[in-house]
Amino acid sequence: MTVQGAAVPTAPAPSVALPDDGRRPPPAWATVAARFVPGVLLIAFLIWFGLAQQTDRVWISLGVDAVATAIAVVGVNVLLGYTGLLSLGHYSFFVFGGFVGAIWAVQDWGVNPWLGFGIALLAGMVLGAVLALACCHLRGFYLTVVTLGFALISAPIAQAASGLFNGLTPRQVEQPLDMQPIFDHLDLKNLQIAANKYLIGLYWIGAALLLFSVYMTWNLVHSRYGRGFKAIRESELAAGASGVPTYWYKVVAFALSAGLVSMAGVIAAQNTLNVGVSDGAAMVGNSFKYVVEAFTGGLGTLAGPVIGAFTFTMGFGIDIGGKTITQRLGTAVALFDAALVVAVALVAPEGVVGNLKRIGAWVTRAYSGAARPTPVASDAMQRPTPRAATRSGDGSAAVLEARGLVRRFGGLAAIDHVDVSIAPGTVHALIGPNGSGKSTFINLITGIYRADEGRVLLHGRDIGRMRPSHRSRLGVARTFQTCLIWRRMTVLENVKVGTHGRNGRRWSATRIAVGVFLTLALGIWFHAAGDTDLVPAFLVALAFAAASVSDLGIALLVPRFLRFDEQRTADRAWGLLHFVGLAERGRDRAGALPFVDQRRLEIARALASDPDVLLLDEPAAGMHPNDVHQLTELIRRIRDAGITVLLIEHHMDLVMELSDTVTVLDFGCVIAEGTPAEVRTDPKVIEAYLGVGAESEATEEGVST
Ligand code: ADP
Ligand code: MG
Repeated sequence: MTVQGAAVPTAPAPSVALPDDGRRPPPAWATVAARFVPGVLLIAFLIWFGLAQQTDRVWISLGVDAVATAIAVVGVNVLLGYTGLLSLGHYSFFVFGGFVGAIWAVQDWGVNPWLGFGIALLAGMVLGAVLALACCHLRGFYLTVVTLGFALISAPIAQAASGLFNGLTPRQVEQPLDMQPIFDHLDLKNLQIAANKYLIGLYWIGAALLLFSVYMTWNLVHSRYGRGFKAIRESELAAGASGVPTYWYKVVAFALSAGLVSMAGVIAAQNTLNVGVSDGAAMVGNSFKYVVEAFTGGLGTLAGPVIGAFTFTMGFGIDIGGKTITQRLGTAVALFDAALVVAVALVAPEGVVGNLKRIGAWVTRAYSGAARPTPVASDAMQRPTPRAATRSGDGSAAVLEARGLVRRFGGLAAIDHVDVSIAPGTVHALIGPNGSGKSTFINLITGIYRADEGRVLLHGRDIGRMRPSHRSRLGVARTFQTCLIWRRMTVLENVKVGTHGRNGRRWSATRIAVGVFLTLALGIWFHAAGDTDLVPAFLVALAFAAASVSDLGIALLVPRFLRFDEQRTADRAWGLLHFVGLAERGRDRAGALPFVDQRRLEIARALASDPDVLLLDEPAAGMHPNDVHQLTELIRRIRDAGITVLLIEHHMDLVMELSDTVTVLDFGCVIAEGTPAEVRTDPKVIEAYLGVGAESEATEEGVST
């Protein structure tokens, strides 16, 4: 056991009983190896392949295909694997990237061909964002249908717009990359190498871009963006309530994935020296291929897309009895792909990487992530901190106020002209029979539902029209009656997502200075070293620089151990895990926690947003009396830290012990309000909720029905 809870003198955190099963922490080398071996293997394979196959035209050409496809699948994985959104139109971005990066930028705008990759990345992101803005408010299936439509109409659009940009019909790449720097290192006396030199050059560029893409995804998943994506994948509702701006994050994920696919398209264009839009069916078919490859390799993993793409491109090039697998499959390849998806879905839904991980976990079962030492957290990091502490004299007596709230479902008013005013620093209980509208009230406060009438005021400010994520960032946190944690993320990650609204970056002077410097340096370089005109050179430089110093750019380019905000987020998350007594489970998957601990985790996540008001929806439901006692202590400590609590609960002893004020709802109306003692003896409350003569019983057992 480590030092958890020791730093809070008022009440020690309840401890988690971990079975002492003799599990040891893994040795340091194993931890490091597990993190870096896949990357080292990828680099080693790429170098080996490039050197070993440079004399073989077929294989080096397959290699170019493989790295381009892998980049595209890495992109698709950002959207499908991490964010959980399926697009069947991404091949359109692949073609678009080829046009922008290899043709328009070079031939029409006079930019050096080497800048085509970066330009395609940014242009793909812009086009992706435009499409996503129009469809990311849609959920799951509907979004997929829009992307399908996008793929189908790309060809007609290309035809209709063929007058623009000097044409969208098939065009030749007239100015291939100048590979001289790479050729200098090739043994051109070897005739086969000399014959393949353009392909060899392209392969090395593609390999470098693939490593860059994987590196960016690696940084991404350890940033607030990546965690936000994963949270959206599992529960968009909980993500929004925890401060993740879900709509924008889906747009970002879509844009990023479109950008990576576009960049891959430039490699293909430089390879075939020709770009054209195929018919709709082919666009959809090729998009589906990316999905198949990501899925087979392992969705939502870093290595999966690479393994999937390499298997399907290089693997299908393997010669079996004089014919490659591709040649043998012929037109049946689509059927094969479809069959493979079904097989993977049934047998190995986690793909190759998921299964490798499982084998790895089995091999190293003697070691345990949970047994790794738990980081110590300072007092300050453990203490829940309402943000109102930093906001003085807003003059409003109530933290949170509902005025004349009405919400109807069909004809029924679930909340019927409710006025509630919650005083700062108190525990305010909301009780009432099942179906009386308590959860609906919380959903109205947190923005899950919009009120039909009435207002919601936080510190006197009307928040009634805001999105849930916005309200969370202003200081309203909640838990859900059904306990919505992100089960596939670790306990620590769950809490880290909760800090979302707190660690947003501000545009600082440093960032702007770095941006200006980058613009100047890159602009001069592009103009002087490449044969790019002054204006396009500086425009491209400005775009690159702005993208690099944006929030997203920093998350993609700077590794987490160099980012201060990541360090602070981790400290805070560990601190709050200590506060609720879950620190020792920090590295476990959240879904593996027992029910009671899942509730505590939800509270820790809510506290991570430094809320002024914490809304708890039946936190003790289904709990053993011992656990209810610990929960009571926890809520008391939260209140003592200065956070106002709205508590919905059926356990009457909990309510009576903790609350300063009790409001009773029945059929959506407030039927009583007062101190616990007043409410308990109110005849209306006894009749509607506690039941005649049930008072003592209710106190003992709670009246959950
Ligand atoms: P409580 O939390 O007090 O048990 P709820 O707020 O969950 O009650 O529900 C109040 C009433 O509103 C119930 O009659 C319920 O059926 C209705 N209701 C809640 N949410 C919805 C919804 N999304 N659609 C239709 N009716 C709903
Ligand atoms: Mg409820």
